Amino acid sequence: MKETHLHISPEEPAIFDRGSKGRRGICFEGEERLPAAIDGIPPGRLRRSQPLLPEMTEGEVVRHFTRLSSWNFSVDLGFYPLGSCTMKYNPRLNEWAARLPGFSGIHPYCPASRVQGALQLMYEFEHWLCSICGFDAFTLQPAAGAHGELTSVLVIRKYLESTGNPRKKIIIPDTAHGTNPASSAQVGYQIVKITSGEDGILHPEALAPHLDEDVAAVMITNPNTLGLFEKNIRTLAEMVHGKGGLVFGDGANLNALMGKIKPASLGIDVMQLNLHKTFSTPHGGGGPGAGPVGVVKRLEPFLPLPRVRKDDKGCFFLDDKGPQSIGRVRSFYGNFGVMVRAYAYLLAMGKENIPRVAEMAVLNANYLLSLLGDVLYRPYSGVPMHEFVVTDKNLKKETTVETTDVAKRLIDMGFHPPTIHFPLVVHGAFMIEPTETETPEMVEEFAAALRSIVEEAHRDPEKVKGAPMKTSRRRPNDTLAARKPQLVWRPEGAGEER
Ligand SMILES: *Cc1c(COP(=O)(O)O)cnc(C)c1O
Repeated sequence: MKETHLHISPEEPAIFDRGSKGRRGICFEGEERLPAAIDGIPPGRLRRSQPLLPEMTEGEVVRHFTRLSSWNFSVDLGFYPLGSCTMKYNPRLNEWAARLPGFSGIHPYCPASRVQGALQLMYEFEHWLCSICGFDAFTLQPAAGAHGELTSVLVIRKYLESTGNPRKKIIIPDTAHGTNPASSAQVGYQIVKITSGEDGILHPEALAPHLDEDVAAVMITNPNTLGLFEKNIRTLAEMVHGKGGLVFGDGANLNALMGKIKPASLGIDVMQLNLHKTFSTPHGGGGPGAGPVGVVKRLEPFLPLPRVRKDDKGCFFLDDKGPQSIGRVRSFYGNFGVMVRAYAYLLAMGKENIPRVAEMAVLNANYLLSLLGDVLYRPYSGVPMHEFVVTDKNLKKETTVETTDVAKRLIDMGFHPPTIHFPLVVHGAFMIEPTETETPEMVEEFAAALRSIVEEAHRDPEKVKGAPMKTSRRRPNDTLAARKPQLVWRPEGAGEER
Protein backbone atom coordinates (compact mmCIF):
# COMPACT_ATOMS: atom_id res chain seq x y z
CA MET A 1 0.00 0.00 0.00
CA LYS A 2 1.33 3.38 -0.99
CA GLU A 3 1.11 5.94 1.76
CA THR A 4 1.99 9.55 1.50
CA HIS A 5 3.96 11.74 3.83
CA LEU A 6 2.87 14.92 2.16
CA HIS A 7 0.81 16.22 5.01
CA ILE A 8 3.02 15.51 7.96
CA SER A 9 3.75 18.77 9.71
CA PRO A 10 5.10 19.56 13.12
CA GLU A 11 2.61 20.53 15.75
CA GLU A 12 1.64 24.16 15.22
CA PRO A 13 0.25 26.24 18.11
CA ALA A 14 -2.28 28.98 17.48
CA ILE A 15 -0.65 32.24 16.47
CA PHE A 16 -1.88 33.89 19.66
CA ASP A 17 0.08 31.41 21.73
CA ARG A 18 3.29 32.35 20.00
CA GLY A 19 5.59 35.33 20.05
CA SER A 20 6.57 37.51 22.94
CA LYS A 21 5.95 41.02 24.11
CA GLY A 22 7.62 43.75 22.12
CA ARG A 23 8.76 41.47 19.30
CA ARG A 24 8.34 43.04 15.86
CA GLY A 25 8.58 42.16 12.21
CA ILE A 26 9.17 45.72 11.17
CA CYS A 27 9.27 48.93 13.21
CA PHE A 28 8.37 52.45 12.30
CA GLU A 29 9.58 55.40 14.26
CA GLY A 30 7.09 56.57 16.86
CA GLU A 31 4.91 53.54 16.26
CA GLU A 32 4.25 52.91 19.95
CA ARG A 33 2.44 56.20 20.36
CA LEU A 34 -1.25 56.03 19.70
CA PRO A 35 -2.35 58.78 17.36
CA ALA A 36 -4.03 61.65 19.17
CA ALA A 37 -6.15 62.53 16.19
CA ILE A 38 -6.47 61.63 12.56
CA ASP A 39 -7.87 64.08 10.06
CA GLY A 40 -11.58 63.64 9.74
CA ILE A 41 -11.98 61.03 12.50
CA PRO A 42 -13.31 62.41 15.78
CA PRO A 43 -10.85 61.64 18.64
CA GLY A 44 -13.54 59.75 20.57
CA ARG A 45 -13.66 57.15 17.83
CA LEU A 46 -9.98 56.24 18.10
CA ARG A 47 -8.92 53.25 20.20
CA ARG A 48 -7.24 54.10 23.49
CA SER A 49 -5.09 51.02 23.85
CA GLN A 50 -2.97 48.91 21.55
CA PRO A 51 -4.85 46.01 19.96
CA LEU A 52 -4.11 42.63 21.55
CA LEU A 53 -2.35 41.11 18.59
CA PRO A 54 0.38 38.49 18.66
CA GLU A 55 3.85 40.04 18.60
CA MET A 56 6.20 38.11 16.35
CA THR A 57 9.09 38.43 13.95
CA GLU A 58 8.38 38.42 10.26
CA GLY A 59 10.03 35.01 9.94
CA GLU A 60 7.78 33.51 12.61
CA VAL A 61 4.70 34.81 10.84
CA VAL A 62 5.79 33.47 7.45
CA ARG A 63 6.64 30.04 8.90
CA HIS A 64 3.40 29.86 10.85
CA PHE A 65 1.18 30.49 7.86
CA THR A 66 3.29 28.43 5.46
CA ARG A 67 3.07 25.46 7.83
CA LEU A 68 -0.66 25.87 8.21
CA SER A 69 -1.04 26.04 4.43
CA SER A 70 0.75 22.69 4.17
CA TRP A 71 -1.97 21.14 6.34
CA ASN A 72 -4.52 22.10 3.80
CA PHE A 73 -5.55 19.97 0.91
CA SER A 74 -6.15 21.64 -2.42
CA VAL A 75 -6.85 20.74 -5.99
CA ASP A 76 -3.33 21.97 -6.77
CA LEU A 77 -1.94 19.30 -4.46
CA GLY A 78 -3.85 16.26 -5.51
CA PHE A 79 -6.97 14.43 -6.63
CA TYR A 80 -10.09 15.96 -5.12
CA PRO A 81 -13.11 13.84 -6.14
CA LEU A 82 -15.61 15.67 -3.93
CA GLY A 83 -18.92 14.74 -5.57
CA SER A 84 -21.32 17.58 -6.44
CA CYS A 85 -18.62 20.18 -5.72
CA THR A 86 -16.74 19.83 -9.04
CA MET A 87 -13.21 20.38 -7.77
CA LYS A 88 -11.64 20.62 -11.20
CA TYR A 89 -8.24 22.13 -11.82
CA ASN A 90 -8.45 25.91 -12.20
CA PRO A 91 -6.12 27.22 -14.92
CA ARG A 92 -3.58 29.82 -13.75
CA LEU A 93 -4.52 31.91 -16.76
CA ASN A 94 -7.82 32.80 -15.06
CA GLU A 95 -5.92 34.17 -12.06
CA TRP A 96 -3.72 36.26 -14.32
CA ALA A 97 -6.78 37.72 -16.03
CA ALA A 98 -8.60 38.47 -12.78
CA ARG A 99 -5.55 40.31 -11.46
CA LEU A 100 -5.08 42.58 -14.48
CA PRO A 101 -5.02 46.04 -12.93
CA GLY A 102 -7.80 47.23 -15.26
CA PHE A 103 -10.07 44.66 -13.62
CA SER A 104 -8.75 44.31 -10.09
CA GLY A 105 -8.17 48.01 -9.49
CA ILE A 106 -11.53 49.43 -10.48
CA HIS A 107 -13.90 50.84 -7.92
CA PRO A 108 -17.57 49.88 -8.06
CA TYR A 109 -18.55 53.56 -7.95
CA CYS A 110 -16.56 54.36 -11.13
CA PRO A 111 -18.84 55.92 -13.71
CA ALA A 112 -19.82 53.58 -16.55
CA SER A 113 -17.84 55.63 -19.05
CA ARG A 114 -14.62 54.74 -17.19
CA VAL A 115 -15.25 50.99 -16.92
CA GLN A 116 -16.44 50.12 -20.40
CA GLY A 117 -14.16 47.07 -20.55
CA ALA A 118 -15.56 45.59 -17.36
CA LEU A 119 -19.13 46.20 -18.52
CA GLN A 120 -18.36 44.72 -21.92
CA LEU A 121 -16.98 41.61 -20.22
CA MET A 122 -20.17 41.22 -18.18
CA TYR A 123 -22.34 41.89 -21.22
CA GLU A 124 -20.55 39.35 -23.40
CA PHE A 125 -20.33 36.81 -20.63
CA GLU A 126 -24.10 36.99 -20.07
CA HIS A 127 -24.63 36.38 -23.76
CA TRP A 128 -22.24 33.45 -23.82
CA LEU A 129 -24.09 31.89 -20.91
CA CYS A 130 -27.36 32.44 -22.78
CA SER A 131 -26.02 30.62 -25.81
CA ILE A 132 -24.62 27.74 -23.73
CA CYS A 133 -27.90 27.29 -21.85
CA GLY A 134 -30.51 28.45 -24.36
CA PHE A 135 -31.91 31.12 -22.06
CA ASP A 136 -32.96 34.63 -23.08
CA ALA A 137 -31.28 36.53 -20.27
CA PHE A 138 -28.91 36.12 -17.34
CA THR A 139 -28.17 38.07 -14.21
CA LEU A 140 -24.65 37.80 -12.87
CA GLN A 141 -25.46 39.28 -9.47
CA PRO A 142 -25.95 36.28 -7.12
CA ALA A 143 -22.85 35.42 -5.11
CA ALA A 144 -23.12 31.62 -5.02
CA GLY A 145 -25.22 28.69 -6.15
CA ALA A 146 -27.55 28.82 -3.18
CA HIS A 147 -27.92 32.58 -3.65
CA GLY A 148 -28.78 31.95 -7.30
CA GLU A 149 -31.47 29.50 -6.17
CA LEU A 150 -32.89 32.08 -3.80
CA THR A 151 -32.85 34.67 -6.59
CA SER A 152 -34.60 32.19 -8.89
CA VAL A 153 -37.35 31.49 -6.38
CA LEU A 154 -37.82 35.23 -5.82
CA VAL A 155 -38.15 35.65 -9.60
CA ILE A 156 -40.66 32.79 -9.73
CA ARG A 157 -42.70 34.36 -6.95
CA LYS A 158 -42.67 37.83 -8.47
CA TYR A 159 -43.68 36.43 -11.85
CA LEU A 160 -46.56 34.42 -10.40
CA GLU A 161 -47.68 37.44 -8.36
CA SER A 162 -47.84 39.41 -11.59
CA THR A 163 -50.24 36.79 -12.95
CA GLY A 164 -52.40 37.23 -9.85
CA ASN A 165 -51.38 34.37 -7.55
CA PRO A 166 -47.94 33.64 -6.05
CA ARG A 167 -49.11 30.09 -5.17
CA LYS A 168 -48.03 28.10 -2.12
CA LYS A 169 -45.85 25.08 -2.79
CA ILE A 170 -42.61 24.03 -4.39
CA ILE A 171 -42.02 20.38 -5.27
CA ILE A 172 -38.53 19.03 -4.67
CA PRO A 173 -37.24 15.48 -5.25
CA ASP A 174 -35.60 13.51 -2.43
CA THR A 175 -32.22 13.58 -4.19
CA ALA A 176 -32.01 17.40 -4.16
CA HIS A 177 -29.22 19.39 -2.59
CA GLY A 178 -30.29 20.81 0.79
CA THR A 179 -30.05 24.33 -0.56
CA ASN A 180 -33.13 23.71 -2.76
CA PRO A 181 -35.65 23.38 0.09
CA ALA A 182 -33.78 26.02 2.09
CA SER A 183 -34.03 28.60 -0.71
CA SER A 184 -37.72 27.87 -1.27
CA ALA A 185 -38.55 28.07 2.43
CA GLN A 186 -36.77 31.44 2.68
CA VAL A 187 -39.16 32.85 0.12
CA GLY A 188 -42.11 31.48 2.08
CA TYR A 189 -43.03 28.40 0.08
CA GLN A 190 -44.09 25.07 1.54
CA ILE A 191 -41.86 22.21 0.44
CA VAL A 192 -43.39 19.07 -0.99
CA LYS A 193 -40.91 16.21 -1.22
CA ILE A 194 -41.32 13.61 -3.94
CA THR A 195 -39.44 10.34 -4.15
CA SER A 196 -37.29 9.14 -7.01
CA GLY A 197 -37.91 5.73 -8.55
CA GLU A 198 -35.99 2.50 -7.94
CA ASP A 199 -33.75 3.56 -10.79
CA GLY A 200 -32.78 6.81 -9.01
CA ILE A 201 -34.64 9.17 -11.34
CA LEU A 202 -37.97 10.98 -11.31
CA HIS A 203 -41.07 9.53 -12.89
CA PRO A 204 -44.31 11.26 -13.91
CA GLU A 205 -46.28 8.99 -11.51
CA ALA A 206 -44.37 10.44 -8.54
CA LEU A 207 -45.11 14.01 -9.58
CA ALA A 208 -48.71 13.68 -10.76
CA PRO A 209 -50.45 13.31 -7.36
CA HIS A 210 -48.82 16.51 -6.04
CA LEU A 211 -49.47 18.74 -9.01
CA ASP A 212 -52.22 21.29 -8.57
CA GLU A 213 -52.85 25.01 -8.97
CA ASP A 214 -51.01 25.68 -5.68
CA VAL A 215 -47.70 24.50 -7.09
CA ALA A 216 -45.45 27.43 -7.92
CA ALA A 217 -42.56 25.37 -9.23
CA VAL A 218 -40.73 22.08 -9.36
CA MET A 219 -36.99 22.05 -8.73
CA ILE A 220 -35.01 19.55 -10.78
CA THR A 221 -31.27 18.92 -10.73
CA ASN A 222 -30.07 17.35 -13.96
CA PRO A 223 -28.00 15.23 -13.86
CA ASN A 224 -29.28 14.64 -10.35
CA THR A 225 -27.11 14.19 -7.28
CA LEU A 226 -26.90 10.44 -7.94
CA GLY A 227 -25.12 11.40 -11.16
CA LEU A 228 -28.04 10.14 -13.24
CA PHE A 229 -29.66 11.94 -16.13
CA GLU A 230 -33.30 12.76 -15.46
CA LYS A 231 -34.64 11.23 -18.64
CA ASN A 232 -38.23 12.20 -18.00
CA ILE A 233 -37.51 15.88 -17.52
CA ARG A 234 -39.37 17.07 -20.63
CA THR A 235 -42.52 15.18 -19.66
CA LEU A 236 -42.26 16.44 -16.08
CA ALA A 237 -41.82 20.01 -17.34
CA GLU A 238 -44.89 19.71 -19.58
CA MET A 239 -46.93 18.48 -16.63
CA VAL A 240 -45.85 21.42 -14.45
CA HIS A 241 -46.41 23.95 -17.23
CA GLY A 242 -49.82 22.42 -17.86
CA LYS A 243 -50.80 23.44 -14.32
CA GLY A 244 -49.36 26.93 -14.69
CA GLY A 245 -46.23 26.22 -12.61
CA LEU A 246 -42.60 26.84 -13.47
CA VAL A 247 -39.56 24.59 -13.70
CA PHE A 248 -36.43 25.54 -11.81
CA GLY A 249 -33.26 23.72 -12.83
CA ASP A 250 -30.41 23.43 -10.35
CA GLY A 251 -27.49 24.04 -12.70
CA ALA A 252 -24.68 23.03 -10.35
CA ASN A 253 -24.04 19.99 -12.54
CA LEU A 254 -23.84 21.83 -15.85
CA ASN A 255 -20.35 20.51 -16.48
CA ALA A 256 -21.96 17.19 -17.42
CA LEU A 257 -24.12 18.77 -20.11
CA MET A 258 -22.54 21.92 -21.34
CA GLY A 259 -22.27 22.19 -25.07
CA LYS A 260 -24.21 18.93 -25.47
CA ILE A 261 -27.71 20.00 -24.57
CA LYS A 262 -29.25 23.35 -23.67
CA PRO A 263 -31.10 23.26 -20.34
CA ALA A 264 -33.82 25.56 -21.72
CA SER A 265 -34.58 22.90 -24.35
CA LEU A 266 -35.42 20.49 -21.52
CA GLY A 267 -38.30 22.72 -20.43
CA ILE A 268 -36.40 24.57 -17.67
CA ASP A 269 -37.59 28.16 -17.14
CA VAL A 270 -35.01 29.39 -14.67
CA MET A 271 -31.66 28.01 -13.58
CA GLN A 272 -28.66 29.01 -11.53
CA LEU A 273 -25.11 28.18 -12.59
CA ASN A 274 -22.20 27.77 -10.21
CA LEU A 275 -19.35 29.62 -11.90
CA HIS A 276 -16.93 28.41 -9.23
CA LYS A 277 -17.76 24.81 -10.15
CA THR A 278 -18.40 24.57 -13.87
CA PHE A 279 -16.34 27.57 -14.96
CA SER A 280 -13.25 26.93 -12.84
CA THR A 281 -12.85 29.41 -10.02
CA PRO A 282 -10.97 28.12 -6.97
CA HIS A 283 -13.54 27.37 -4.28
CA GLY A 284 -13.94 25.51 -1.05
CA GLY A 285 -12.80 26.91 2.25
CA GLY A 286 -15.18 29.80 1.79
CA GLY A 287 -13.66 31.28 -1.37
CA PRO A 288 -15.82 33.56 -3.47
CA GLY A 289 -18.25 32.13 -5.98
CA ALA A 290 -20.97 33.33 -8.30
CA GLY A 291 -24.40 31.96 -9.08
CA PRO A 292 -25.71 33.64 -12.25
CA VAL A 293 -29.36 32.99 -13.01
CA GLY A 294 -30.65 32.39 -16.53
CA VAL A 295 -34.31 32.75 -17.47
CA VAL A 296 -36.68 32.35 -20.38
CA LYS A 297 -38.20 35.46 -21.95
CA ARG A 298 -41.31 35.75 -19.79
CA LEU A 299 -39.21 35.86 -16.59
CA GLU A 300 -36.70 38.44 -17.81
CA PRO A 301 -38.52 41.53 -16.46
CA PHE A 302 -38.20 40.11 -12.95
CA LEU A 303 -34.40 39.71 -12.88
CA PRO A 304 -32.40 41.78 -10.37
CA LEU A 305 -31.22 45.27 -11.25
CA PRO A 306 -29.10 46.81 -12.57
CA ARG A 307 -28.73 45.04 -15.91
CA VAL A 308 -25.77 45.63 -18.20
CA ARG A 309 -26.95 46.97 -21.56
CA LYS A 310 -25.51 48.38 -24.76
CA ASP A 311 -26.81 51.59 -26.34
CA ASP A 312 -27.12 52.45 -30.07
CA LYS A 313 -23.59 53.85 -30.11
CA GLY A 314 -22.12 50.61 -28.78
CA CYS A 315 -21.53 52.00 -25.28
CA PHE A 316 -22.26 49.83 -22.27
CA PHE A 317 -24.31 51.13 -19.37
CA LEU A 318 -26.01 49.95 -16.20
CA ASP A 319 -29.76 50.03 -16.48
CA ASP A 320 -31.53 50.30 -13.16
CA LYS A 321 -34.99 50.65 -14.61
CA GLY A 322 -37.30 47.68 -14.38
CA PRO A 323 -40.57 48.18 -12.49
CA GLN A 324 -41.18 44.42 -12.16
CA SER A 325 -37.66 43.52 -10.99
CA ILE A 326 -37.15 41.72 -7.67
CA GLY A 327 -34.58 44.46 -6.97
CA ARG A 328 -30.98 44.07 -6.00
CA VAL A 329 -29.75 40.81 -4.46
CA ARG A 330 -26.10 41.71 -3.98
CA SER A 331 -24.09 44.85 -3.36
CA PHE A 332 -22.78 46.41 -6.56
CA TYR A 333 -22.69 43.88 -9.43
CA GLY A 334 -21.80 40.61 -7.75
CA ASN A 335 -18.41 38.91 -7.47
CA PHE A 336 -16.79 40.49 -10.48
CA GLY A 337 -13.45 38.66 -10.12
CA VAL A 338 -15.24 35.33 -10.46
CA MET A 339 -16.87 36.54 -13.69
CA VAL A 340 -13.46 37.50 -15.09
CA ARG A 341 -12.12 34.02 -14.29
CA ALA A 342 -15.10 32.33 -15.92
CA TYR A 343 -14.84 34.61 -18.97
CA ALA A 344 -11.13 33.83 -19.32
CA TYR A 345 -11.90 30.14 -18.96
CA LEU A 346 -14.48 30.20 -21.75
CA LEU A 347 -12.27 32.32 -23.98
CA ALA A 348 -9.33 29.93 -23.54
CA MET A 349 -11.58 26.90 -24.02
CA GLY A 350 -13.24 28.11 -27.20
CA LYS A 351 -16.70 27.15 -28.34
CA GLU A 352 -15.59 23.86 -29.86
CA ASN A 353 -14.06 22.57 -26.62
CA ILE A 354 -17.02 23.22 -24.36
CA PRO A 355 -18.74 19.95 -25.27
CA ARG A 356 -15.38 18.24 -24.68
CA VAL A 357 -15.60 19.31 -21.02
CA ALA A 358 -18.84 17.40 -20.63
CA GLU A 359 -17.55 14.42 -22.58
CA MET A 360 -14.37 14.14 -20.54
CA ALA A 361 -16.18 14.67 -17.22
CA VAL A 362 -18.58 11.83 -18.06
CA LEU A 363 -15.82 9.63 -19.48
CA ASN A 364 -13.65 10.02 -16.36
CA ALA A 365 -16.53 9.12 -14.04
CA ASN A 366 -17.38 6.08 -16.12
CA TYR A 367 -13.73 5.00 -16.36
CA LEU A 368 -13.35 5.25 -12.60
CA LEU A 369 -16.53 3.30 -12.01
CA SER A 370 -15.39 0.56 -14.38
CA LEU A 371 -12.03 0.31 -12.60
CA LEU A 372 -13.79 -0.08 -9.27
CA GLY A 373 -15.87 -2.94 -10.58
CA ASP A 374 -18.03 -4.22 -7.74
CA VAL A 375 -15.56 -3.53 -4.96
CA LEU A 376 -18.14 -1.15 -3.45
CA TYR A 377 -21.89 -1.62 -3.73
CA ARG A 378 -23.68 0.56 -6.30
CA PRO A 379 -27.34 1.13 -5.46
CA TYR A 380 -28.41 2.45 -8.89
CA SER A 381 -27.29 0.75 -12.03
CA GLY A 382 -27.93 3.40 -14.71
CA VAL A 383 -24.98 4.74 -16.70
CA PRO A 384 -23.63 7.65 -14.65
CA MET A 385 -22.91 11.09 -16.00
CA HIS A 386 -20.07 13.12 -14.40
CA GLU A 387 -20.32 11.48 -10.97
CA PHE A 388 -21.64 8.33 -9.34
CA VAL A 389 -22.69 7.00 -5.97
CA VAL A 390 -21.49 3.80 -4.29
CA THR A 391 -21.99 2.67 -0.68
CA ASP A 392 -20.48 0.71 2.19
CA LYS A 393 -23.38 -1.75 2.22
CA ASN A 394 -21.44 -4.98 1.60
CA LEU A 395 -18.18 -3.74 3.05
CA LYS A 396 -19.80 -2.95 6.38
CA LYS A 397 -21.52 -6.32 6.55
CA GLU A 398 -18.32 -8.21 5.77
CA THR A 399 -15.77 -6.14 7.71
CA THR A 400 -17.63 -3.61 9.96
CA VAL A 401 -15.62 -0.88 8.19
CA GLU A 402 -17.87 2.05 7.25
CA THR A 403 -17.92 4.86 4.72
CA THR A 404 -16.30 7.36 7.10
CA ASP A 405 -13.40 4.97 7.82
CA VAL A 406 -12.65 4.49 4.14
CA ALA A 407 -12.83 8.24 3.56
CA LYS A 408 -10.37 8.86 6.41
CA ARG A 409 -7.99 6.20 5.13
CA LEU A 410 -7.93 7.89 1.71
CA ILE A 411 -6.42 10.93 3.43
CA ASP A 412 -3.44 8.79 4.48
CA MET A 413 -2.95 7.96 0.83
CA GLY A 414 -2.85 11.57 -0.30
CA PHE A 415 -6.36 11.87 -1.70
CA HIS A 416 -9.16 14.15 -0.70
CA PRO A 417 -12.07 11.88 0.21
CA PRO A 418 -15.16 11.97 -1.96
CA THR A 419 -18.37 13.51 -0.65
CA ILE A 420 -19.80 11.07 1.88
CA HIS A 421 -23.24 10.47 3.39
CA PHE A 422 -24.82 12.48 0.54
CA PRO A 423 -27.24 12.30 -1.19
CA LEU A 424 -29.33 11.62 1.88
CA VAL A 425 -31.48 9.01 0.15
CA VAL A 426 -28.50 6.64 0.02
CA HIS A 427 -27.26 5.12 3.27
CA GLY A 428 -23.47 5.21 3.68
CA ALA A 429 -22.95 6.95 0.35
CA PHE A 430 -19.73 7.90 -1.37
CA MET A 431 -20.39 10.41 -4.10
CA ILE A 432 -17.43 10.46 -6.45
CA GLU A 433 -16.74 13.11 -9.08
CA PRO A 434 -13.33 12.89 -10.74
CA THR A 435 -13.97 15.90 -13.08
CA GLU A 436 -12.68 16.31 -16.61
CA THR A 437 -9.30 17.76 -15.69
CA GLU A 438 -7.83 14.50 -14.37
CA THR A 439 -5.61 12.22 -16.43
CA PRO A 440 -6.39 8.51 -16.84
CA GLU A 441 -3.31 7.74 -14.69
CA MET A 442 -4.70 9.78 -11.80
CA VAL A 443 -8.07 8.08 -12.08
CA GLU A 444 -6.26 4.70 -12.07
CA GLU A 445 -4.23 5.63 -8.98
CA PHE A 446 -7.34 6.60 -7.10
CA ALA A 447 -9.16 3.41 -8.09
CA ALA A 448 -6.15 1.37 -6.94
CA ALA A 449 -6.10 3.22 -3.60
CA LEU A 450 -9.77 2.63 -2.99
CA ARG A 451 -9.39 -1.05 -3.88
CA SER A 452 -6.42 -1.44 -1.56
CA ILE A 453 -8.38 0.12 1.31
CA VAL A 454 -11.22 -2.33 0.78
CA GLU A 455 -8.68 -5.19 0.80
CA GLU A 456 -7.12 -3.79 3.94
CA ALA A 457 -10.55 -3.61 5.54
CA HIS A 458 -10.92 -7.36 5.06
CA ARG A 459 -7.43 -8.04 6.39
CA ASP A 460 -7.16 -5.53 9.21
CA PRO A 461 -10.41 -3.63 9.80
CA GLU A 462 -9.17 -1.98 13.00
CA LYS A 463 -6.38 -0.29 11.08
CA VAL A 464 -8.81 1.30 8.65
CA LYS A 465 -10.99 2.42 11.55
CA GLY A 466 -7.98 4.13 13.10
CA ALA A 467 -7.38 6.32 10.04
CA PRO A 468 -6.15 8.89 9.35
CA MET A 469 -2.77 8.04 10.83
CA LYS A 470 -0.59 10.49 8.95
CA THR A 471 -2.27 13.79 9.68
CA SER A 472 -1.49 16.19 12.47
CA ARG A 473 -5.14 15.97 13.56
CA ARG A 474 -6.72 12.52 13.66
CA ARG A 475 -10.49 12.41 14.02
CA PRO A 476 -11.89 15.57 15.51
CA ASN A 477 -15.41 15.33 16.83
CA ASP A 478 -17.08 16.89 13.80
CA THR A 479 -20.49 17.20 15.45
CA LEU A 480 -19.01 19.14 18.34
CA ALA A 481 -16.87 21.22 16.00
CA ALA A 482 -19.96 22.17 14.00
CA ARG A 483 -22.19 22.84 16.99
CA LYS A 484 -19.71 24.57 19.27
CA PRO A 485 -17.02 26.07 17.09
CA GLN A 486 -14.33 28.00 18.95
CA LEU A 487 -13.94 30.97 16.71
CA VAL A 488 -12.92 33.67 19.14
CA TRP A 489 -9.64 33.74 20.98
CA ARG A 490 -9.80 35.41 24.37
CA PRO A 491 -6.45 36.07 25.89
CA GLU A 492 -6.20 36.22 29.65
CA GLY A 493 -6.92 39.68 30.97
CA ALA A 494 -8.34 40.88 27.66
CA GLY A 495 -10.29 44.08 27.96
CA GLU A 496 -13.53 44.69 26.16
CA GLU A 497 -11.66 46.79 23.60
CA ARG A 498 -10.74 43.82 21.44
C1 LIG B 1 -22.97 23.07 -4.89
C2 LIG B 1 -24.39 22.84 -5.12
C3 LIG B 1 -25.35 23.79 -4.72
C4 LIG B 1 -25.02 25.02 -3.90
O1 LIG B 1 -24.09 25.86 -4.49
P1 LIG B 1 -23.19 26.86 -3.63
O2 LIG B 1 -22.42 27.61 -4.64
O3 LIG B 1 -22.35 25.99 -2.75
O4 LIG B 1 -24.10 27.73 -2.83
C5 LIG B 1 -26.66 23.55 -5.05
N1 LIG B 1 -27.04 22.43 -5.69
C6 LIG B 1 -26.14 21.48 -6.07
C7 LIG B 1 -26.62 20.26 -6.80
C8 LIG B 1 -24.79 21.65 -5.79
O5 LIG B 1 -23.91 20.72 -6.15
